Amino acid sequence: MDIIIPKQNCPLCDRVVEFVGIDFGRKKKFNCPHCSVYKISIASEEAITKLSKEQKEIISKAATQCRPQTMLLIWTDQGTKQIKYDCVPEKD
Ligand SMILES: [Zn+2]
Repeated sequence: MDIIIPKQNCPLCDRVVEFVGIDFGRKKKFNCPHCSVYKISIASEEAITKLSKEQKEIISKAATQCRPQTMLLIWTDQGTKQIKYDCVPEKD
């Protein structure tokens, strides 16, 4: 039986990408040919759609610049509601 990998448009660059749900469905891990691999919380995925193209590009670039064995994690700060991102170890 084939494993069906869900696809959607990359929240950062709008290309069609594969993703997997992780962290009990609270996060998604995207594998984007443009932005590389990154993890995003469901809440921040919603917030990212409201960012400007330039802001998304900055985050996309940050994802590609993470060192090997790390990937970008994007989340929303609970207090300020600001989108935060940082390179974190690849394993969950
Ligand atoms: Zn992308």
